Amino acid sequence: MKKKFIDRIREMKGGEILEPVIFPDSLDSLKTMAPIIIKQPYAIDYIHSYGQDSPWFAGLANKKLLGTKCCKCGYVFATPKLSCMECGAECDWVELPQEGRIHSFTVCHFGAEAFLDQCPFILGLIEFEGADTLLLTRLVGPNPNEANLKWVGMKVKAEFVQKPECKPTDVYFVPV
Ligand SMILES: [Zn+2]
Repeated sequence: MKKKFIDRIREMKGGEILEPVIFPDSLDSLKTMAPIIIKQPYAIDYIHSYGQDSPWFAGLANKKLLGTKCCKCGYVFATPKLSCMECGAECDWVELPQEGRIHSFTVCHFGAEAFLDQCPFILGLIEFEGADTLLLTRLVGPNPNEANLKWVGMKVKAEFVQKPECKPTDVYFVPV
């Protein structure tokens, strides 16, 4: 393979390329050219309604963990549900215990842009006494590089961020 005539352009500022982009004398080598990578700011205002799930976020902002319970069959969801996924009837809000156990977990070595600088981090599925479903949430405390199956069944408790942003990340779990 021909030697790449351009390794990688790294020096960028606001989308402006600070180094000259060189060009080969022969077009034959263009297919071996390394991709040009540019950097530019990217920001949008994203307006999103939580609708019927709003009480769940209001709960987090007030250090309460809410679930929902079917008015007909009594199925308890550890997440906001307006309608029961078992029988379709309406659900009411209930308060969940703030302690539970790790049902399963995964260590994320890659994530959405907002979480990239926190990799590796742990996502856990938490089971609660009296709830029929699980809550997917961040697990903080255990070393992600020492993940092991002994964590399954570990007692954990909810912690709430000091400055709630009305996001699912307003709550996370730590070992008891
Ligand atoms: Zn039901």
